[in-house]
Amino acid sequence: MKTIIWYGNDLRVDDHLPLEEAIRYGDPIEGHYFIRPDELTENRYGVVPLGRRRLRFLNESLSDLAGSLEAFDIPLYVHVGHPLDVLDRDDRLLFQSSIGYDERRLERDVTIGWRGEWRAFDGFTLYRRDEIPFERMPFLFTEFRKKIEHDAVPDRLIERAHADVALPLQFPVAIEPVETDERSAFPFQGGDRAGRERLAHYLNGPVRTYKETRNGFGIDDSSKLSAYLANGSLSPRRVLHELEQHEAKHGANESTYWLYFELLWREFFQWVALEQGKRLFRAQGIRSKQKSWRADIEVITRWQRGETGVDFVDSFMRELNATGWMSNRGRQIVASYFAKELGQDWRFGATYFESMLIDYDVASNYGNWAYQAGVGNDSRDRRFNITRQQETYDPTGAFRNTWL
Ligand code: FAD
Repeated sequence: MKTIIWYGNDLRVDDHLPLEEAIRYGDPIEGHYFIRPDELTENRYGVVPLGRRRLRFLNESLSDLAGSLEAFDIPLYVHVGHPLDVLDRDDRLLFQSSIGYDERRLERDVTIGWRGEWRAFDGFTLYRRDEIPFERMPFLFTEFRKKIEHDAVPDRLIERAHADVALPLQFPVAIEPVETDERSAFPFQGGDRAGRERLAHYLNGPVRTYKETRNGFGIDDSSKLSAYLANGSLSPRRVLHELEQHEAKHGANESTYWLYFELLWREFFQWVALEQGKRLFRAQGIRSKQKSWRADIEVITRWQRGETGVDFVDSFMRELNATGWMSNRGRQIVASYFAKELGQDWRFGATYFESMLIDYDVASNYGNWAYQAGVGNDSRDRRFNITRQQETYDPTGAFRNTWL
């Protein structure tokens, strides 16, 4: 009998419970990763979810994982298709549980059809299910944060070293070349090595002023850890552990706390998504708030291309199109503009982000989009004044001039 590790958004060996459990059994181990066919085909919103930059980043991340797994004598296979069509159902199956609705539905199908033993583990979040001190998730982030800060303690970190070299993989999808734009805020390179290097770099200085710079658009203004957290090359507990080590050595300040604060936003949206399931994707959102959304393809296309005529919005969208990245401030502004000023169905915006963002994460993306559209975890339904935003965050027009 073999032990199969079914990989998803957990592309690492560090702090990885399925790997630890697989080693404990002592049977031969294989790693398998599956791309769902629907991720590669155009959806009802007119986009291919796994866009070409995301695909390239995935390929790099998997090659790094293959390198790290080689040290454990574990081969890694990548497929497009359904696990039950490829794997031997009598083997032992171990995997990290997903958060997203489609991913969980697939896990349910696989475990129902599985004949051998199987086990699922938490690992995408800072806290595990039984460490979250809520019967039901609070609607507002502040309530969640306060209780978590007071009551929750993350499980200990299980440390494993990654390899120094990637292993070229048989990747089942053609990787189209993507150009690196010289204006890119951070040309993301996939893999656990790159994620750990970025974390070390950020904690070695920039984090000390994070609270003041985080709304900026430059390389060290924010951590740029999101893409590594999104596909699990980096464990959130690893980030917290290193942050605490940094604070023990250099002292905590408002900025080091703020990085933790932002990680709690991530955490919040994960648990909301898990609880809400399919409701996260409804036009009326988790608040069941009826709004008359429009779906004007010409308007949507102009927004996507960065051709709305509103400079600040267009600059951010062009940055996204050229690099696969946009700052948090930019995301808030373009999402608010799309839903509140243009009145377009927010899901067209969210799916476009899904296809384009290298750091796409289902819970953070749909949770934040619904929030900006006024149908998510915010009772105020605010709108951004774009002119005022530009005056505050790009007073000299430097960012605008970079992209227009
Ligand atoms: P930092 O500012 O350095 O923050 C550190 C980490 O905290 C981030 O890496 C991220 O994991 C987490 N974080 C910070 N802000 C948020 C937030 N508002 N919500 C959830 N987590 C947060 N983030 C994604 O990871 N994937 C997405 O698909 C995504 N889509 C978004 C869509 C919209 C409309 C908006 C407004 C925000 C979205 N975010 C998403 C959240 C946020 O913009 C990014 O996490 C952040 O910009 C990533 O840059 P960073 O790693 O430098 O963040």
